[in-house]
Amino acid sequence: MNKDQILSMTALALGQAIRDKKTTSVEATAALLAAISENEPKYNCYISVFEKQALSDAKAVQVKIDSGELTSPLAGVPVAIKDNMCTKDRQTTCGSKILSNFIPPYSATMVSKLEAAGAVIIGKLNMDEFAMGSTTETSYYGVTKNPWDVSRVPGGSSGGAAAAVSAGEAFLAFGSDTGGSIRQPCSFCGVSGIKPTYGTVSRFGLVAYASSLDQIGPIGQNILDCAAALNIVMGKDPKDQTTMDSTPVDLDEARAFDVKGLRIGIPLDYFGEGLDPDVKARVLEAAEKLKSMGAILEEFRLPIVEYAVPTYYIIACAEACSNLSRFDGIKYGFRAEGAKDLLDVYFKSRSEGFGLEVKHRIMLGNFVLSSGYYDAYYRKALQVKALIKKSFDEAFAKYDLILGPTAPTTALPIGESLSDPLKMYLGDIYTVLVNIVGLPAATIPCGLDSRGLPVGMQLIGNHRQEQTIINAAAAFQRATDFHLQKPNRNEGQV
Ligand code: GLN
Repeated sequence: MNKDQILSMTALALGQAIRDKKTTSVEATAALLAAISENEPKYNCYISVFEKQALSDAKAVQVKIDSGELTSPLAGVPVAIKDNMCTKDRQTTCGSKILSNFIPPYSATMVSKLEAAGAVIIGKLNMDEFAMGSTTETSYYGVTKNPWDVSRVPGGSSGGAAAAVSAGEAFLAFGSDTGGSIRQPCSFCGVSGIKPTYGTVSRFGLVAYASSLDQIGPIGQNILDCAAALNIVMGKDPKDQTTMDSTPVDLDEARAFDVKGLRIGIPLDYFGEGLDPDVKARVLEAAEKLKSMGAILEEFRLPIVEYAVPTYYIIACAEACSNLSRFDGIKYGFRAEGAKDLLDVYFKSRSEGFGLEVKHRIMLGNFVLSSGYYDAYYRKALQVKALIKKSFDEAFAKYDLILGPTAPTTALPIGESLSDPLKMYLGDIYTVLVNIVGLPAATIPCGLDSRGLPVGMQLIGNHRQEQTIINAAAAFQRATDFHLQKPNRNEGQV
């Protein structure tokens, strides 16, 4: 197979081609490395690329595939990982200056699982610093450009991951989603992704942002690639006590699934003020498509949406300020020069090591946890969390899935969000609720806006109902070709 044939494949197709001996893991890795070095100057998806190690890993994996020792559907396939998941002996920066020299002495559980299944770790993807942001602009390593229009952001915080898959710089990527960081960049870059039920994928080795919300998940060219990737990394891990045993997604069931009789709720509160008319139109057309295929659609109210953003930012910042206290210039990474005493080491290292957005969040988190404000903000947010749980329980008594937009807009111009952070926070309105109550949700492309930029629709399921989400998404992708639309990569602009 030649380089272009290899690069045109999905991750599952490439895995099959390697098992069928039509190509090899080394050929695929070399082809991808060439695509990365050709496109990186345009898009900046990666923080580091493990060229040498990936090629030698691919060689070792190929031997095991040939001997029949490795049979996983993704054995031999190069996989890219957001730079907040630890890779033993390979730089892990979390998009921050404070971890710019951090070489982890261990790998995240999900990285070890991928390697055990024969996936080849090709490199680490750009992201908002500590996964805080919706644009990848807060990265210490520069913004990633959206492959559909290089003057626009790829979304965030897993912007490097979504852009890499969209730009043909990754067959498959892993992101993390604390409040939408897998789904929103997938929506902006026209690719598919899933944030699993909280506890499905181990967070051991994931640099923590907000521990009760963080979850790792796959990003791919279609939902079946994502499902295959999820199956490899899921499962109970003694090193993360919040994990549980999960049933692998049955890909054959998804391939044959008929949406006839599937009950889908359309939350009217996801279609109100602030939603771009093009996004609204594309998502409602997608809902109509599912209806024409036999799904039963019903509108319902989810008024709790109004409280989504404040509740999320209180909980996320409270947990973040505590999690980030470990970065003090002593234990990990960057230490500032010229400190007078120990306190000054902490002060200077954190002042120089963290970027502005991270500092905002640390201050906000300390504020909502401080003794005078704890009851008014943090405790209140936990009470609202209970109400959100109740609203979703009521909805899932009636519906198998909830369908709505992933984000209120398509990709925004670079520079627009950081000048108005409140507007950026409001952009998380449709994604954060599911993190607050630990639900699974996927996003898949459902068309283009009037500028030719991709629109994503979100499918939310009840706890542990990844199969239902993937079944419906796979049926939609069989019946449509939105996921096959690609940016004009030569121009970088549609
Ligand atoms: N945009 C949200 C935030 O900045 C979500 C980020 C995420 O999911 N990591 O907190």
